[in-house]
Amino acid sequence: MGTALRRETCSWGRATDLVVGLGSSRGVRAAAVWSALRVAVVDLSEVTAFGTIDRRRDEPGLLAVIREHGAPLRCYPAAQLDAVDVPNPSEPVRGHVGTRSVAEAAALLAARDLGGGSLIVPKLRGEHVTVAVAALAPPSSPPSRPLSISAACTACGACLRTCPEHALRPAPRRPTVVAARCTSCGECVEICPTDAITLRESE
Ligand code: SF4
Ligand code: SF4
Repeated sequence: MGTALRRETCSWGRATDLVVGLGSSRGVRAAAVWSALRVAVVDLSEVTAFGTIDRRRDEPGLLAVIREHGAPLRCYPAAQLDAVDVPNPSEPVRGHVGTRSVAEAAALLAARDLGGGSLIVPKLRGEHVTVAVAALAPPSSPPSRPLSISAACTACGACLRTCPEHALRPAPRRPTVVAARCTSCGECVEICPTDAITLRESE
């Protein structure tokens, strides 16, 4: 059984785009993953992506949570994870899975792949699961054409799965857009079956 969950104090301020790194034992329960996730992340709608080690890409408990949440999963080989400089490396963990860090390293690698970021919640231990959170750095330039989503949205989710920048987030009635991440590529406009998405002309 893991040690009690702790939430580290974060001086980063309000999160806008988070990447969650997950490590686990074989057979971890989805309920334990949800529990750890909710301690590490106050607003789960802010999670843009998950990361973990290659050997856990098919772990049922992890996959159940990730699929229900809806953000994509990025998987990394142990050697790549082990090369990441993390605050809480563990030699025993390396003895088991070949890297001194899974959760922290996966969060940092996934954040790097999405444009860069830094760790804001170091590794938390749950029941056979570890969670770490990185915040993505805001893009340097603003979007050229703001995007809006109208009431014609049927919440089908197609645009969330399509956006290459993970700029769209699930929300109760229709997706919301993280304007700072949107590059105005137009892919969501193309995929939307109800023409609910509009890219406005630049002012
Ligand atoms: S315009 Fe492109 S980057 Fe912006 S939300 Fe749509 S798919 Fe994502
Ligand atoms: S693709 Fe269109 S209808 Fe589907 S969730 Fe996105 S905005 Fe709504």
